[in-house]
Amino acid sequence: MNKTIQNALKSTTKTFAKLDEISIYNENKVIEAFKMHAVALRHFNGTSGYGNDDVGRDTLCKVVATVFGAENAIVSPLITSGTHAISLALFGVLRPNDIVLSVTGQPYDTLQDVIYKQGIGSLKDFNVQFDTIDLTSEGGFDYEAIGKYLQQKPVKMIYIQRSRGYAWRPALSIAQIKDLCLYIKGISPKIMIFCDNCYGEFVEKLEPTDVGVDFCAGSFIKNIGGGLAPTGGYIVGRNDLINLVAGRLTAPSIGAEVGSYQYGYRLFYQGLFLAPHTVNQALKTATLFSSVLSAKGFDVSPRSDEHLGDIVCAIRLNDPDKMIKFCQAVQSVSPIDGFVKPEPWEQPGYADKVIMAAGCFVQGASIELSCDGPIREPYTVYLQGGLTLEHGILALEKVLESL
Ligand SMILES: *Cc1c(COP(=O)(O)O)cnc(C)c1O
Repeated sequence: MNKTIQNALKSTTKTFAKLDEISIYNENKVIEAFKMHAVALRHFNGTSGYGNDDVGRDTLCKVVATVFGAENAIVSPLITSGTHAISLALFGVLRPNDIVLSVTGQPYDTLQDVIYKQGIGSLKDFNVQFDTIDLTSEGGFDYEAIGKYLQQKPVKMIYIQRSRGYAWRPALSIAQIKDLCLYIKGISPKIMIFCDNCYGEFVEKLEPTDVGVDFCAGSFIKNIGGGLAPTGGYIVGRNDLINLVAGRLTAPSIGAEVGSYQYGYRLFYQGLFLAPHTVNQALKTATLFSSVLSAKGFDVSPRSDEHLGDIVCAIRLNDPDKMIKFCQAVQSVSPIDGFVKPEPWEQPGYADKVIMAAGCFVQGASIELSCDGPIREPYTVYLQGGLTLEHGILALEKVLESL
């Protein structure tokens, strides 16, 4: 193994031990939830047609609700992505003239059109107002600005994005989210709090719904699917809100009573079982990249001594050529499409060319080792996922060679 990586592994022993403690805690939580709902082989069976009385689907929802310390959940292979899950959550509960306040700045890129673009059935088309307040420069909530806003306007929903997404800011910690919830509910318990939980599941011992968030959503081809789930998404939280969202997923009044999946649910259950460990491996991979590349003089976020709030590691390469080489190096150790050399391309919806490395078993699954970023200053690459630390180490070796 590369000497730099060997040394970095020695320096990360303490962080890794902390990560192990978290994943053991979360694994226990998952197993206890499986036991509570008496998960058995019969729950893996698929159904067809309407999917009435689909016990595999219904039990999976109950297990996820329990893992999140919540009343109810929708888990469905019919939810195609994280964007779809978040969009369902918003359209499920919001009504014309409602006001939403995002307290983590602009939401993730793929939600921009869902919220603002006119003429496509966006929130804006339904006359839902969506305002934003940025985090402070230290990465905390801007309580002063939030307080002022809440005095002026009757806000229906507070919107939080836990992960950094494609922004140069730290991911939120559960402790920060808890403080915010206490603050908001202290002003008015009626204001509902929603969290985009993508990339956040099992990173800490608690989830947003454990500390006052009313409901949250995410993707099953990220953390919570453990790298095995073939597709799907979830929304979890307060029963009344989940029922409204279920009415949007299928049809009002029909809700979560229907929805079949012929292939069955084993990979969702088994993926959920593996997820605490998979997230542990992704976090170790991110920690190692962060530690080695900062030692090489690059600006990284999070730094290896900072709190880990999601599975993303952002690296400022300050050079377009290095960015391309970085992504090509990661691609070159991918089990799938490892023979492919990614190049920057004009992706619809992005102002700049984008480069992506993703050699995944499940198309686009970013819990698998992947990296990407827009080709623009300061040429930041976002690395995420990694099903095994071994894979992460091999990728890092290639990256060091290519830089
Ligand atoms: C990935 C992600 C999304 C969108 O999920 P897709 O599955 O890509 O649609 C939304 N928010 C955050 C923070 C994400 O990381």
